Amino acid sequence: MQKIKKIEKIIDPPHYHWVGDGFRVHTFFPSDEIDKSRMSPFYLLDYNAKTKFSPINNPRGVGPHPHRGFETVTIDYHGKVAHHDSDGNSGVIHEGDVQWMTAGSGILHKEYHERSFSKAGGIFQMVQLWVNLPAKYKMSEPKYQALVQDKMGKVELPFNSGIVNIIAGEYQNVKGPAKTFTPINLFDIRLNKNADVSFELPENYNSAILILDGAISINDSDNVRTDQFVLFGNGGTTAKISATEDSVILLLSGEPLNEPIFQYGPFLMNTKKEIIEAFEDFNNGKFGHLE
Ligand code: MN
Repeated sequence: MQKIKKIEKIIDPPHYHWVGDGFRVHTFFPSDEIDKSRMSPFYLLDYNAKTKFSPINNPRGVGPHPHRGFETVTIDYHGKVAHHDSDGNSGVIHEGDVQWMTAGSGILHKEYHERSFSKAGGIFQMVQLWVNLPAKYKMSEPKYQALVQDKMGKVELPFNSGIVNIIAGEYQNVKGPAKTFTPINLFDIRLNKNADVSFELPENYNSAILILDGAISINDSDNVRTDQFVLFGNGGTTAKISATEDSVILLLSGEPLNEPIFQYGPFLMNTKKEIIEAFEDFNNGKFGHLE
């Protein structure tokens, strides 16, 4: 007998703030509504809702900054993002692509609108997630996973009702390409109007969805629209989504870490001592160099 996974909260986008001059983001969590451990292993979700940027010669974005102790996952919906890091890596994240960066022991990077997109201007929409690492993996070697759109796990839904792009985890025995340190399901779901789809999510996993486009109803009751965030409760396992318009949905679900969280600025560790060490290492140049 399937047990319905009830909605705990439906949240409107909180007031936006700018990250550099390129990312106009709503931080759905951590926030007053969602405590820092409530969505563990996910620590932060920044959402740049659809924003029109005017053409400009010098790309907008955020300059060199460090990270340690977690992973940044950038999901590109509209526009293009270029990135560079202190290990000499660089690349462009296109629409439908995901960049999964393990900051681990520490890296410097910068994130900008890609040059041709900046010159042309246009609609920009993206999500950046911070995925926390268990204590024993926080000082792992930094690495990247460039997960391009056509390499995602794909499940075509019956009756031409849409597609589930599996970024991480598994849906209907199809796996996503992301390698994760702890169990995570991350799905980019595209539904046509009147589609019905159900997801089985373990009770103890923290689970939520963000609606990037369209409108849906959940469990045949609550109506949710573009830019709203839905936090599921931990009881129950089955979430039913019905599209009342053509819709784009991000589903995130993961096994909680249950470890102490100490965050300061761009560092996400377990203790205050580790944060002080991160600042010392950063000030001593141990994160490398990036112009
Ligand atoms: Mn960053």
